[in-house]
Amino acid sequence: MPESTSSSLWANTAEPEVQATAQHGAAFADVVIIGAGFTGCAAALALAQSGARVTILEAKTVGWGASGRTGGQVIPGLKYDPDELEAMFGSDLGPRMVAAAGSVGDEVFGLIERHAISCDAQRKGWLQPAYSAKSLDLGLRRCDSWKRRGANVRPVDRSRMAQLLGTDHYLGGWEDGRAGHVQPLSYVRGLALAAQRFGAEIYVESPALSLTKAGTKWRVKTPNGSVEADQVLIATNGYTDGLWPGLARTVVPMISYQAATVPIPEALGKSILIEGHAASDTRRLLWYFRRDAHGRLIMGGRAPYREDLGPRDAGYVRNAVNRLYPQLRETPFEFHWFGRVAMTQDHLPHLHRLDDGLWTALGYNGRGVGMATLLGRFLAELASGVSPNDIAFPVTSMRPIFGYPFTRLAARVLTGYYRARDQMEAA
Ligand SMILES: Cc1cc2nc3c(=O)[nH]c(=O)nc-3n(C[C@H](O)[C@H](O)[C@H](O)COP(=O)(O)OP(=O)(O)OC[C@H]3O[C@@H](n4cnc5c(N)ncnc54)[C@H](O)[C@@H]3O)c2cc1C
Repeated sequence: MPESTSSSLWANTAEPEVQATAQHGAAFADVVIIGAGFTGCAAALALAQSGARVTILEAKTVGWGASGRTGGQVIPGLKYDPDELEAMFGSDLGPRMVAAAGSVGDEVFGLIERHAISCDAQRKGWLQPAYSAKSLDLGLRRCDSWKRRGANVRPVDRSRMAQLLGTDHYLGGWEDGRAGHVQPLSYVRGLALAAQRFGAEIYVESPALSLTKAGTKWRVKTPNGSVEADQVLIATNGYTDGLWPGLARTVVPMISYQAATVPIPEALGKSILIEGHAASDTRRLLWYFRRDAHGRLIMGGRAPYREDLGPRDAGYVRNAVNRLYPQLRETPFEFHWFGRVAMTQDHLPHLHRLDDGLWTALGYNGRGVGMATLLGRFLAELASGVSPNDIAFPVTSMRPIFGYPFTRLAARVLTGYYRARDQMEAA
């Protein structure tokens, strides 16, 4: 696993850590959840609220995985447009899935409000600026597809996009008013705290080492004890290890790298993201950016697959800042960090039934703030006995990717190819 996240903006500005210790001795629960990111904590909160006895086992600390490292952009929707999803999943599941994927802003900001989570939540919309004529067409089609379903979205022309972003780099695009952004480490800690208040037990520095079945019960071993439960939820996403054979081979982890500038002086920053939007552009290797609560600019993008990245690897995001905002050329980065994004072959998140009483959700393809929160709740519903047919998302069997080592290699090669295509199309 990659090293500590202490150099991240979020670790340095978050609400305090959740009080929790390592697991010791033999314990019992209705549901054990493995992993304390958005998926695991949202599931724990929903279960604890419904009165279930819930235990979370986290290998490191709450939010240590991707959840405490994200850009914090809460973006509704999936890789496919609503029209495409309905064609792929049919007239029953398709529209329910579209409604669910479109509702993730309500899911996240609703939880934040109901549980008074302090996480600099801002629901001021998301912009998808287009860097090429082809991607502008795609974006406008996506916008239209949502608009026909009554969503709060609108096209944004070139001059309005330049005004909102503070750069004339893009050709226009569209705006999703359902979206927003959060301080993600504070958000995941807030979910965990709310779950604790409803009685969930949270253990940190407690990796699940093995998972075995005895009769109808599951037994999860930790370094100093074990927990027995009727149901187990695996919520480990891009940090999935060998706990359940084959599961790690259903996702391809890629690295996303972010840097945050020092707080930008008013004179330099007043034209940048003037209405507080989050933004991610249409590049294949996208640039995603926003301001934080202290006026820093946070810029993210794809990085080489290494777990020892540092400030010297900031060239890609520095270039993005310089291209978009030349006035910030001399504004230094204050924080750098990175984490694993779990990609799937079909570009959709996966919700799997692995065995009787064993479920998982993973593979958010970089859209996990909203989707992991939502699928966490769906996992809780499955563990509570709701039929998979009544879940607004396909519940499938796990299918490890065929030729997995080659897929990982191909993904890395593709990164270089995509970068070249992005440069050509923008030219
Ligand atoms: C740099 C970066 C930027 C991103 N930006 C955005 C964004 O702006 N918007 C967006 O929507 N999405 C974004 N994403 C994606 C999003 O962060 C993830 O999809 C989401 O956080 C996944 O949450 P999770 O709870 O499923 O997994 P994680 O948050 O990764 O949690 C998994 C946890 O499982 C634990 N674990 C693993 N194995 C074990 C074990 N055996 N026992 C116990 N615990 C275990 C890990 O320690 C980890 O804490 C970004 C991701 C990264 C890395």
